[in-house]
Amino acid sequence: MTPGVTPIVAGNWKMNGTAASLDEIGDVCAGLDAEDTLPHETLLCVPATLVERAAAVAAESALSIGGEDCHAKESGAHTGDISAEMLADAGASFIIVGHSERRTDHGETDAVVAAKAEAVWRAGLTAIICVGETREEREAGKAEEVVGAQLAGSVPAAMTATNAVIAYEPVWAIGTGLVPSNDDIGAMHTFIRKTMSSRFGAEGEAVRILYGGSVKPGNAAEIFAIANVDGGLIGGASLKAADFLAICDGINA
Ligand code: PEP
Repeated sequence: MTPGVTPIVAGNWKMNGTAASLDEIGDVCAGLDAEDTLPHETLLCVPATLVERAAAVAAESALSIGGEDCHAKESGAHTGDISAEMLADAGASFIIVGHSERRTDHGETDAVVAAKAEAVWRAGLTAIICVGETREEREAGKAEEVVGAQLAGSVPAAMTATNAVIAYEPVWAIGTGLVPSNDDIGAMHTFIRKTMSSRFGAEGEAVRILYGGSVKPGNAAEIFAIANVDGGLIGGASLKAADFLAICDGINA
């Protein structure tokens, strides 16, 4: 954890969830509301079809709702796309950009990710900007080089500690049950902190850096205790309220 920053536990539902899943969001809200004090911010990023209904369920609670992606433009002839302004209108306060599944499935480059982050800011929301190396890149000893290049290309110059969150997600750890060693997580988060601080000064010192990749109730506390890990981005384990709340308990455990 970084001294003085409020950690954030963020879920990413990916392409999962229908109206029937809103009960899980209600259960997360109830679980958060039962706590006297919350040492973290809490966010669920859900499919665009659910943002408005999820935001209504979470309206009186400590839970924020986010989107999983957006188009870089505000409006126009982009059939099937959704703008940051539309997600803001539906009740989102954060949007994930540059998730590795978008980079891989949709060929999103660092420049595209940077344009999307700027779109998130144009709409007045916070961007969760994802970076992370593949297994081959790690084995070739290039993890820091790859992540450094992604940060340089994906994080726009107007970044601040309040308009952005960085998520380090090694591609090979997402949805696989594989997790880097605590030493490797710590080394990469320290590298990201140094990179952000040298480019952005005090804003880079304070920007939250989340770890993502197979975080579960059983490993959350030890991961969140690593220096410069300011919370997590949680995929599969965010789909069930009980698991997500147990992961939240890993902050300050
Ligand atoms: C993710 O989708 O960002 C993620 C980290 O997934 P999982 O927790 O399932 O590995």
